[in-house]
Amino acid sequence: MTITIYGVLAITMDESLETIDQCDIVIADDGRIQSVGPTDGAPRPADEMIDGTGLIAIPGLIDTHRHSWLEMFRGLTADLPVGGYRQLTKSGIAQRVHPDAVHLATLVGDLAAVDCGITTVADLAHIGRTADHLDASVQGHRDSGLRVVLAHTPANGDGENWYVNSERRHPADIAWLRTGALADDDALVVLAMGARPLHCVTPEVLQADVATARDLGLRLIYDGAGAATGGGPVRRRWSQPGHRTVAALAESGLLGPDMGFVHGNHLEDDELGMIADHGAGLSVASEVEMLCGYGLPVCGRDAVAGLRLALSTDVAAYADPSILTAMRTMLMLSRARPASSAYLTNREETTQVPAVAALRAGTIDGARFLGLQDRIGTLSPGRAADIVLIDRTGPRLAAVRDPAVAVVLFAQSEDVRHVMVQGRIVKRDGRLVEARRSDLVRRLVDAGSAVLAHGAKRAEDAPLWNF
Ligand SMILES: [Zn+2]
Repeated sequence: MTITIYGVLAITMDESLETIDQCDIVIADDGRIQSVGPTDGAPRPADEMIDGTGLIAIPGLIDTHRHSWLEMFRGLTADLPVGGYRQLTKSGIAQRVHPDAVHLATLVGDLAAVDCGITTVADLAHIGRTADHLDASVQGHRDSGLRVVLAHTPANGDGENWYVNSERRHPADIAWLRTGALADDDALVVLAMGARPLHCVTPEVLQADVATARDLGLRLIYDGAGAATGGGPVRRRWSQPGHRTVAALAESGLLGPDMGFVHGNHLEDDELGMIADHGAGLSVASEVEMLCGYGLPVCGRDAVAGLRLALSTDVAAYADPSILTAMRTMLMLSRARPASSAYLTNREETTQVPAVAALRAGTIDGARFLGLQDRIGTLSPGRAADIVLIDRTGPRLAAVRDPAVAVVLFAQSEDVRHVMVQGRIVKRDGRLVEARRSDLVRRLVDAGSAVLAHGAKRAEDAPLWNF
């Protein structure tokens, strides 16, 4: 189906096109953007014509790291420190979650993502205990119509064997997915590796897992590469002095642009420099990092100046996963940290990070983190039509002059009018297209209740996870 969006204000995030008022975007039958440019005469006829008057078009927002199966336990660990989160969800709940519940959580989580303008998520699906659980993750994403990087990750529920000084190489299931369900790199759902950092595995396994990923032609995403280096009670820290994943990869000649790291909170400056020098990526999950006890996100540190940070939402067990929220939190932190240090050192603050920088993090830099920058992240001819249209006529946005400021600091999910992924409309006129949604949500809540009814509801009652 061809689509023409006409008369829209487009923030293209394409450096050669920039922002175009009165813009027409033509989408071809194959779901790609055919042309983007100022309105010139009558709009190009198409199967569907969308009047862009009063709308802002942006590239679809990109969430570079989340754990979709935990959508069934939204807010469950909001008041727990991260040790309690791990104990309750990873070793307690994970053992009792049925594949059907994984499917529901993944699908409903994707729909919630669409609702707030997210068109791509990377799911570090650490619930793939069996082939059926893995299939459920894949199918949930396929049913939603979202673009997904499914990062195959060692399963929870058997954590001590995989995440504590593990001598086990990455599970062979990843090759099964690569040659089977997720063999096609041009599909909407593609495969990556959710790799374990050095505090989880021996140095030999760290290197072997990189070789496995590269043999299979897969990107690597390291969750928790620098969340809490150093002190603190053992149960709360996720890394220790000497567990320098980035440095270890660099020293063994393995660090590369096919790698992305998440939670850089306490990465040392030299490791941040190594990430930049090797063209690797860094993703921040500011809300969860601050809520769970990882401390301050890296945003605003001098050492991240050379990095293009990506954004992620991590886990709904702490907070609502929204890249609209993540963009504004990032902007606030990027200004607050240097301002505090300037105040304390009596320095004059000179630069101010602009709002559009946060939009870059939520779009093209997220695409780069996932290695998808040639496919998504900008509104450019040839890119996939992953497009979000935001209503700027309501009382909250109408008086905002700068469209990037309107998106980053004012827009809410109810302002997201239309969302399309690969030219397919998944939210239309403010409503999710997925018709079975209300039934799905009810079934998901029931599935979560069933899991909680048969085991630990409190962190203290769950099996210990000793790291
Ligand atoms: Zn994570």
